[in-house]
This record gives sequence, structure tokens and C-alpha cells, in this order.
Amino acid sequence: MTILRGVKGMNDILPDEIGRWHRVEKAFARAASLHGFREVRTPYLEPTPLFVRTIGEATDVVEKEMYSFSHHDEPLTLRPEGTAGAARAFVEHAIHGKEQVSRWYYVGPMFRAERPQRGRYRQFYQAGAEIFGDAGPGCDAEMIEMLVTFLAAIGVPGVEVLVNSLGGADARAKYKAALVTYLEPKKGELSAESQRRLGTNPLRILDSKSPTDQAALDGAPTIHEFLDDADRAHFAALQRHLTALGTPFVVAPKLVRGLDYYTRTLFEIKGAKEKLGAGDTLVGGGRYDGMVEELGGPSVPAIGFAAGLERLLIASELTSEGAVVDAFVAPLGDAAIDHALVLGRDLRAAGVSCEVDARGGSLKSQLRRANSVGARVALVVGDREVAEGVVQVKDLAGHTQESVARATVVSVVTERVRSAVPAASDGRS
Ligand code: AMP
Repeated sequence: MTILRGVKGMNDILPDEIGRWHRVEKAFARAASLHGFREVRTPYLEPTPLFVRTIGEATDVVEKEMYSFSHHDEPLTLRPEGTAGAARAFVEHAIHGKEQVSRWYYVGPMFRAERPQRGRYRQFYQAGAEIFGDAGPGCDAEMIEMLVTFLAAIGVPGVEVLVNSLGGADARAKYKAALVTYLEPKKGELSAESQRRLGTNPLRILDSKSPTDQAALDGAPTIHEFLDDADRAHFAALQRHLTALGTPFVVAPKLVRGLDYYTRTLFEIKGAKEKLGAGDTLVGGGRYDGMVEELGGPSVPAIGFAAGLERLLIASELTSEGAVVDAFVAPLGDAAIDHALVLGRDLRAAGVSCEVDARGGSLKSQLRRANSVGARVALVVGDREVAEGVVQVKDLAGHTQESVARATVVSVVTERVRSAVPAASDGRS
């Protein structure tokens, strides 16, 4: 029989790997809650028009990457990103009527039918956050600072923050026209994809990796020439705030990113190329001041970002979260199993995680298993121990053994486990 495999580009995260995921997710939740963000969970399936309207028709995501289908004539899409769903929920529940500023964060799977490669998958996880109701630029700077602090906390070295401003709709429309005017005479030099984009989404040409496209762009106008006074003041203040916070950044006038909804502040955080290769963008974010209104709500400014968890894990030096259990109970012989099960239950009641090996088997094989689950102590219970009312407590790190009265063993083990230095403490190890 052939083995059925999972869907290409959709990965299993096995228990051996989950420790690192938990550490990154915990660090993210901690950074977000320190900044007053609360978690939101929105559905994985949304109506297809939500993404077409917000992300934009002529974007890679909408044109070719969405998992869309129709169920009883209802067009549905597995969410390719988290912002549109959050904004939909914000409008649907009229949150703007309940509070002036909403700070939300989320962590969950996203789906895009991309060509899988290292750091690019078809199901991947994003940790993201949104602020509704604050036009910035103070909160824009704070959001970037929060990310840089979070990345340092999970041991991601060599990050680079790129910032840009896309201005409002007016500046973008003018810039689009100017870019088309500039590139039209050079159309023959552009890649086939960029020639097509010249008619559909010219700003995306700026993102092109093709050297001929980049050569054609040398000397092209930048969006900065088209920003109005208010956009300019916003962008200048963002840079001032970042400087005040001591957050290093680089202004990247060609940064546009793949989604149409961005206005004003736009940013990316890149990690070390040696580790990440082409997928070196760890975080992408920006303002989307028009989206809430576009979805039928009032005019509410907003900003958000999403970080790809797989990429964070590739870049991070965090190790896995220590042991599976603190203690291991090894009964020797059938008669000891009842005692071992009760001892296991009593240890757990005292908050000590433990595994009871009720399969039987030799002491040697049980101790091997105790070591493989990272237990600090192994508790050996045989017929003799049962008869004498004791338990053999083996310290697996210190290689010592003592006979402890059954009546006090739970407190002895609790003490021993608490005083132990965990294999991976709260920082990096
Ligand atoms: P975006 O939603 O496209 O702005 O992407 C934000 C972040 O999500 C990127 O910087 C990546 O870290 C991550 N990301 C986007 N697409 C993928 C993908 N197909 N596989 C893995 N991570 C992704």
C-alpha cells in the first residue's frame, strides 16, 4: 500500500518541534499584552469578496493564491491573511461604537497556493496585530518597536527595519500615473510579468526581483515626490519617534508590498539572509486607513502587521522547551502497577508532571525511557518497596538514589523538581 502524504506545502508540526513554537507564541502574546493588545480569533473561512475587496483584485494573492470554492453557491476562501477578517469582525460587531481605540492580536494558520520552498508554504502561521482608531504616527512607531523587542526576545539576530510612506489614495493615484509614464517607453526592457503589471498594478513592479526590471527603475520617480504635506509630516514624525525609541530603521522608497490596502506607513522587518534566503522578510505591515470604511463601517484609521512564524523559527536561536515530564514512575512487576498509578496521580495533584510506565518491562528499559522524556527523577516501585512502604527515588541528573517513605515521597519529589534548574530556562539557552 502506498503511504498517503499530506498536502504539498502544508506541514505537520510534530511534538518534538512544538516546544519552540510554544516559546515563540508565548513571547509574542507577552509582547502584545504588554502593549495592551487583546487576542481575537476569527474564522479560517471567510466570504471570498472580503479578500477581493480589501487585498485588491490585481494582486498575486487574489489573482492566483487563494484557496477558494463555492459551497451551496456561497463563495468561500480559506483566509490568506488575518487583517481583512479582523477588520470585518471590527465592523460587523460595531466595535468603533464601543471604544475609541482597539488593539487586537492573533496567531493562526493562513493559506496561500504558492510554490512551496524554504520559508514559503501553502499553510503557514502568522502572528499579527491590528490597532483600530489611532491615526498614528506614534502608535506606528510603537508597533515597530514592539516587534523589534519581540524579535530580540526570541533570539533573532541581524534584523533590519525598512519603512516607507505610501501616502493617501490621492498620492498613490498620482504616483501610479507618473510611474506608468516613466516606464511606458521602457516597456520592452521589462520582464513579461512587469509588462503585464504596467496595465494592472504598476506599483508592484517596484517589488520585482528581476534585475532588468530593477535596471529600468533606476531613476524612476519615487512616491515621496507625490506625498501631500500631511503625509509628509506623518512620515517625518514616524521617523522622529523611532529615533527617540532607539529603534534603527532604513527608509526604503521602493517598498510597496503585495497588498493593495496600505496607506501612509508601510514597513518590513528582514532577518539574516544567510539563514532565510529569498524568504528573508519576517514581518510585513502598514497602515490601512481606508479598509474599515471600505467594509461598510465609518472612517476609522488602522495599522497592522503579520509575522510568519515558520520564518521566525528558522531565524530564531531559541531552543526547545526542556523536559516532557518532571518525574517518571517505574513499577517493577504486576503487583506494583496499582501503587505506581496512585503515586502518579498524587504527584500530578501536587503539580508534578509525570509519566507512569505501566507496560511492564525491565528497569533498564524503563530508565532509558525516563531519560528520553527528560525526567528529573525516576521513582522505582517493586514488590519490596511496596512491602516496606518506600519508593526508590533516582535523581537522573545527579545519578544518586535514596529510599524515601511513601508518605513523604510526594513532597520530597515536589521539592526536588522545583529546585532543579530547567533544561531550558525562560531566556535563550
Ligand atoms: P504578508 O501577509 O504577505 O504581508 O506577509 C507577512 C509575513 O507572513 C511575511 O513576511 C512572511 O513572514 C509570512 N508569509 C507570507 N507568506 C508566506 C508563506 N507562503 N509561507 C510562509 N510565510 C509566509
